[in-house]
Amino acid sequence: MNPDRQLPSYVIRICYDIIAEETPSHESLQRVLALAGLERYASSPPPLNDTPALTMREYERLIGVVWHVFDNVQAREIFRRVAQRGFTNLTRSGVLAYGQFLRAFDALGTKHERVAMMMNRLTQELTRALGNKHEFYRQGEDFILDIYDCPYCAEIVRGNIAAPYANVCHIPVAFYETAIAWASGAPHTVQEISCRVSNQQNYCRFKIFWNVAVKLKP
Ligand SMILES: [Zn+2]
Repeated sequence: MNPDRQLPSYVIRICYDIIAEETPSHESLQRVLALAGLERYASSPPPLNDTPALTMREYERLIGVVWHVFDNVQAREIFRRVAQRGFTNLTRSGVLAYGQFLRAFDALGTKHERVAMMMNRLTQELTRALGNKHEFYRQGEDFILDIYDCPYCAEIVRGNIAAPYANVCHIPVAFYETAIAWASGAPHTVQEISCRVSNQQNYCRFKIFWNVAVKLKP
């Protein structure tokens, strides 16, 4: 994968907004951006659109900085919120306009088929937007997603940050949980079952446990 590939501006804008919301002052946000080498966004937030705004390597470094400066619980909360807002943004941007899906959904017999169709579309879009391969397939009643050259654990895999635990990729877990709940109308658990931090492979593997979930908290 090309580390200089430019990612759409909404990727950094959503991180910017969530870190701003989770930290007590603008100085705090500025420090996080500076540590990630993204000082250029310290005074003016990047636009919430598709214009090229940061490289994949910069995105990986920003995720690494969040691991570095916040504790595991705080970092996980930031990643989960980034992912949830990231999915909401895609539904608003037209990439996943619900109306566009409704007719296709109506033609399908089951929620399971709806989710398979939506996940195919979504993983194609993520492969296009981010440049790394996202491979999605069924495994019995469940689904598997393999994210190659996963950016969410890249700084830990490089050894720049100590691994807090064996499966660290919270952004895709929360992103796909949100997406699947959106398409099926019910929560289903997503777990990272194998992470590059500990698997010695070039992909992280996620499993969607169909009809397994905890109740949504109000
Ligand atoms: Zn991972």
